[in-house]
Amino acid sequence: MRLIILFLSIVILSSQKSQAWGFYAHQRINRLSVFSLPPEMIGFFKYHIDFMTENAVNPDKRRYAVLGEAEKHFIDLDAYGDSAVHKLPRYWQQALEQYSEAELRSKGIGPWNVYHTKILLTEAMKRKDPKAILRLAADLGHYIGDMHVPLHTTKNYNGQLTNQYGIHGFWESRIPELLSEDYDFFVGKADYLRSPQIEIWNTLAHTHAALDSVLSFEKTISTRFPEDKKYTFEERGGINTRQYSREFTLAYHQALGGQVERQMRRAVKMVADFWYTAWIDAGQPDLDGLIQNKLDFDPEKFDRDEKLKIREHEDGTLAEVSNFSKRQRLLRIGHYFDFRSFGFYSSSSIGLPAISLTFGCSIHKPIGRKTKRKNSPA
Ligand SMILES: [Zn+2]
Repeated sequence: MRLIILFLSIVILSSQKSQAWGFYAHQRINRLSVFSLPPEMIGFFKYHIDFMTENAVNPDKRRYAVLGEAEKHFIDLDAYGDSAVHKLPRYWQQALEQYSEAELRSKGIGPWNVYHTKILLTEAMKRKDPKAILRLAADLGHYIGDMHVPLHTTKNYNGQLTNQYGIHGFWESRIPELLSEDYDFFVGKADYLRSPQIEIWNTLAHTHAALDSVLSFEKTISTRFPEDKKYTFEERGGINTRQYSREFTLAYHQALGGQVERQMRRAVKMVADFWYTAWIDAGQPDLDGLIQNKLDFDPEKFDRDEKLKIREHEDGTLAEVSNFSKRQRLLRIGHYFDFRSFGFYSSSSIGLPAISLTFGCSIHKPIGRKTKRKNSPA
């Protein structure tokens, strides 16, 4: 039902611009990984470190534009039953012998995709193709980063099955953005991985083992914080948004014993290890010889394909980042507002008293009614 409402008052809640690790954390991971590379590699990657940083988030933008991208960022291990992380086939071809491709894709292909991307990077290095090397190394850094986020290993990816809605953005965006300035990111030199595919699965097992504390500590800490202490309001892009409070964030961080920092450090190290391994496997090409003043990259298009049904663990955000300014502009002129990723957080559903924004807009769903999210994978 389409309603036209002129002066509508709503609370805008946000779990920040969160996609997998959040833009901020992905960018830091890619950037920091460069410093663990050996002398033969570091010149080339340092020269292009801004590219590596900025493009660390391309795969997340691509999720909404390219069919087949979304499932590369996660794997719902619990959808396969107990101890799946120890039992699932390590190699894609083996997996296809046990499961249909459709089933595998619907439950996420994260670890297999890491290995596939590593092979593509190795090939690009063999070809000495600087643009492909940079693009694929940036992508690989992103995918490896995702495999370090416990909520990327479960169908309960945003706490939606345990009444902890929004925990995804909290863990991977809010915490790093608030606290990671103080993290220790010295991870040492990159190591060669004899079996990168086995290594990514071992990492996944480690990541998945952390899931229980991600969820249970949030529940425990929440009992100590009334709603008005658990959340705070901050202005973002001229809009008042609801965030987890700094106090709650710190309490959670401490209860987890610095888990987010540890996972970020592990990600930085593993990204460097994979880049280094690709380079060794390619026969150690001379990367310094590939340094060029200017590389003309064809800009990647991230136009949203509305037909793609993508799981949105950044629910609660106004809109996905690549579309953010456009939607915000439309919002400001009182023309349009997309409630599909917002309804769950409508003020009545969580009993929030505040009215923080007044503007004219047209909405696509009545306010105050919970909009059920799809729990099924993208
Ligand atoms: Zn991702």
